[in-house]
Amino acid sequence: MEKPTYSRTMFCEKCFKAGLPRVGTLIVLMGGESAQPYVISARSPKGRLECPELYNGFTPHLITEIASSHDKKLVSYEASCGVNGCDTKITPVGSKFDAETTFSKTGTMYRREWNQMILNADLGYHW
Ligand SMILES: [Zn+2]
Repeated sequence: MEKPTYSRTMFCEKCFKAGLPRVGTLIVLMGGESAQPYVISARSPKGRLECPELYNGFTPHLITEIASSHDKKLVSYEASCGVNGCDTKITPVGSKFDAETTFSKTGTMYRREWNQMILNADLGYHW
């Protein structure tokens, strides 16, 4: 069975250097464990219009587990920045979007941190 893919906010150095995301930037998100990816257009963070740079470089990533350590305490994952023009290429197809993502980042975290991240319903990018 394929592991579920989640959307979670992570820091992206490439987007940070490019000053992304900006208002109107297209970003791909996952709708949940069984849902399909969907595309949003970034809006100004609610109540943060005066300092949108706080979000500079912090972008929604698609993230999926790829392996677990023998003692199950560590999770290895791969992630893809969901920002169009970064790890993701978003193309309009009729009234919909086609999103192509490259999982360019890998990392390891404690299982308990992973579980916390997965359970965290506050996605942190309510634009
Ligand atoms: Zn990025």
